[in-house]
Amino acid sequence: MEINKHYFDTVIIGSGLAGCRAAIECINHGTVGVLSKLYPTRSHSTAAQGGIGAALGNEEEDSPEWHTYDTVKGSDFLGDQDAIEIMCYDAIPTIIELEHMGVPFSRTPEGKIAQRRFGGHTREFGKAPVRRACYSADRTGHAVLFALYEQCQLKGVRFFQEFQVLDIVVENNAVQGIIAVNIKDGSLHVFESKAVIIASGGYGKVFKVTSNAYASTGECLSMLFRQGLPLEDMEFFQFHPTGLYGLGILITEGARGEGGILINGKGERFMERYAPTIKDLAPRDMVSRAILTEIREGRGIDGKDYVYLDLRHVDRKILEERLPEITTFCKIYMGIDPSEAPIPVVPTAHYAMGGIPTDNDGRVLRDIDGSVVEGLYAAGECACVSVHGANRLGCNSLLDTVVFGRRAGKAASSTLKTATKGKVKKERISLIADCVDMIRRSNGRETVASVRRDLQTAMMDKCSVFRKEEELKVLLDELQALKERYKDISIADKSNTFNTDLLEAIELGHMLTLSEVIASCALQRTESRGAHCREDYPKRDDENWLKHTFAFQGDKGITFKYKPVKLTRFKPEERKY
Ligand SMILES: Cc1cc2nc3c(=O)[nH]c(=O)nc-3n(C[C@H](O)[C@H](O)[C@H](O)COP(=O)(O)OP(=O)(O)OC[C@H]3O[C@@H](n4cnc5c(N)ncnc54)[C@H](O)[C@@H]3O)c2cc1C
Repeated sequence: MEINKHYFDTVIIGSGLAGCRAAIECINHGTVGVLSKLYPTRSHSTAAQGGIGAALGNEEEDSPEWHTYDTVKGSDFLGDQDAIEIMCYDAIPTIIELEHMGVPFSRTPEGKIAQRRFGGHTREFGKAPVRRACYSADRTGHAVLFALYEQCQLKGVRFFQEFQVLDIVVENNAVQGIIAVNIKDGSLHVFESKAVIIASGGYGKVFKVTSNAYASTGECLSMLFRQGLPLEDMEFFQFHPTGLYGLGILITEGARGEGGILINGKGERFMERYAPTIKDLAPRDMVSRAILTEIREGRGIDGKDYVYLDLRHVDRKILEERLPEITTFCKIYMGIDPSEAPIPVVPTAHYAMGGIPTDNDGRVLRDIDGSVVEGLYAAGECACVSVHGANRLGCNSLLDTVVFGRRAGKAASSTLKTATKGKVKKERISLIADCVDMIRRSNGRETVASVRRDLQTAMMDKCSVFRKEEELKVLLDELQALKERYKDISIADKSNTFNTDLLEAIELGHMLTLSEVIASCALQRTESRGAHCREDYPKRDDENWLKHTFAFQGDKGITFKYKPVKLTRFKPEERKY
């Protein structure tokens, strides 16, 4: 077996916003290799539409303190307040820095960065919605990622595009490097390094209806979990209220920020009942539950399982200038012109609040006591700092990626002078090569597509917006059965060139692991908080559950530990809008 060896001081997995921002920091201190299973600028960050949050106060009075409060409250008080404060205060210099790097933000008439409303962002501690999201029409992620990628190219970051990471090697409590496959020709590559930063994004693909891209499968999280490292708060998965009906493609919250309203089958603006102060701009968990409650109670459109997002009253010029992308999506995918007809929408799986536990500088935690894995860092959607707690506010994720991508890069770089070079053992490489070979040669009765479809359906039916003990228990049994079926899969394509059959089979194995973690964590948490809504435990229970879940792979199944939430300024209060 021929193995290609590489060395970089820092290796980064993922070329989305978090990975690129980290790379810009690291390249000032040593060599940097970034791996991405996609072409870098096709990373999922480019899909981000609506905006990136910062209390610039360009359109109306705002402050980082209000931003901090909104984020804490939005998180249903599960976010760590020290981390949230860092993010909200860093937001302003971060946006200015992005502007200087060349991000083409939309502008106010006097030339300042334009800002619009987003769910849960308010002025004066909840009094009324505030314009806090900086945006580039509805292509914000695209604009920011292209600027960061250009900076990486200018500074000499080395990209390995269409390289899929198969293993992150942690031994003796230190990261040694990674093992990856070159998708183009199937060759195996080993990257040894002093530091590894994981910026591999989310895992929305475990659900049937999702706004996430095909690549959002979460295998890097599973790679750590299977080695005995913890995952944090995996029970919290956000559903975005406005996915296109039947497709899940996202209609940004920016559409409601520009005046769009939700209406039910009776023509009522129903959010007035659920969140009288900020109505359609309530946080996503609340709006998602409200929509599904309307549908359950027979007030979907014509009694069906969707509601309308109505933009007909919004000036056509505003739609064309500020929301061109979603206007086009509606025309292409639904045959609807949003200026003339309301858009059928339903909640769609969107964002992973849980992930790889880190400290505020991206160091990966190995336990609840703050101990870390030497040389290993994580940032962006794959990480749990935790700034989003039980529910992320819109436009805070792009901010999270750049603020904590930079911090992780800085922390990794600061240790390079003293850190030792990692060493990936031959046996480990052989193990991975054998696993890949075994899947390639597999000749069972099941297809990857059928097992994946049944997994996604089961997760959607029993572990999405509403959850119950009985259903979660059934789901866990179903996941065991799916794991058995997975052992009996077959791969049609036996070749080395762009073997997506093989790679999808590997991803599916990790998706099964992650789904089991999500469902098990959801079963343990007997309360409702943020996006985790247990119908059998409808109340938030601060006395028992104001704490983070750490899930570990034990010898006899998943085990749990709990870590207190960092509360600083804001005491938990009832979450009303
Ligand atoms: C449709 C949509 C709209 C959104 N709009 C907004 C918004 O307006 N504002 C906001 O704040 N947030 C928004 N979000 C959320 C936000 O876009 C994401 O959370 C964020 O972009 C994630 O960035 P990231 O850098 O962590 O990961 P990503 O951009 O997802 O990048 C992940 C990278 O990891 C790589 N990767 C993964 N696994 C492997 C592997 N095994 N081997 C090699 N490479 C691997 C991928 O190739 C990719 O390069 C939106 C999300 C969606 C889906």
